[in-house]
Amino acid sequence: MKTDETEPITTGCRASAAPEPDCRPSRGPLTVERIAEAKLPTEHGEFRIVGYRSLTSDEEFVAVAKGDLTLDEPTLVRIHSQCLTGDVFHSLRCDCGQQLTRALEHVEEAGRGVIVYQQQEGRGIGILNKIRAYALQEQGQDTVEANLSLGFAADQRDYQQCAEILFDLGLCKVVVMSNNPQKLTALENAGLRVVGRVELEIQPYESFANYLRTKREKMGHIL
Ligand SMILES: [Zn+2]
Repeated sequence: MKTDETEPITTGCRASAAPEPDCRPSRGPLTVERIAEAKLPTEHGEFRIVGYRSLTSDEEFVAVAKGDLTLDEPTLVRIHSQCLTGDVFHSLRCDCGQQLTRALEHVEEAGRGVIVYQQQEGRGIGILNKIRAYALQEQGQDTVEANLSLGFAADQRDYQQCAEILFDLGLCKVVVMSNNPQKLTALENAGLRVVGRVELEIQPYESFANYLRTKREKMGHIL
């Protein structure tokens, strides 16, 4: 096991520091605030957990990070949206839990990286509405139709503050662990340099085959 969990997380890459011209564009101060940081030993390795709060809403975030984070080195990152059912209960309605586990394993293997965990449950509709959407899916709707039936957009998520957290942690060049092109575009639009993408291999289950098909066909995911 690697023993670099005590290495400090390097900060930098703020608009005021601007060490690289193509780093964070000057868009005023960050709209997230770093609150606390601690060690986080896990089944997948030793990490650090950094807590953030939004300055524009009541949203809270955590970043699970490992290793020395610097401006120049391309760094593995994932923006993981909370999925209580998948992440905690290992639901086989979706592949979220598996993706989170793979991402932690990749960061541990690389010795450095960041997973930003945003609490936008159910693509931003909340856990109760997600259960409502599941009930609609049991009547034949797919994940997109169900969200629309409930009066929501297919995807309500916003990634701007996740990008700000990556800047705050000192990153500029990122290799994104995601199948969702919208996340890559959002990070690029925020000013991060996306220099690569890593596909997260998951074990396919029949129980979420339709879910993945919908994500591929209706949401443009690369699956
Ligand atoms: Zn999920």
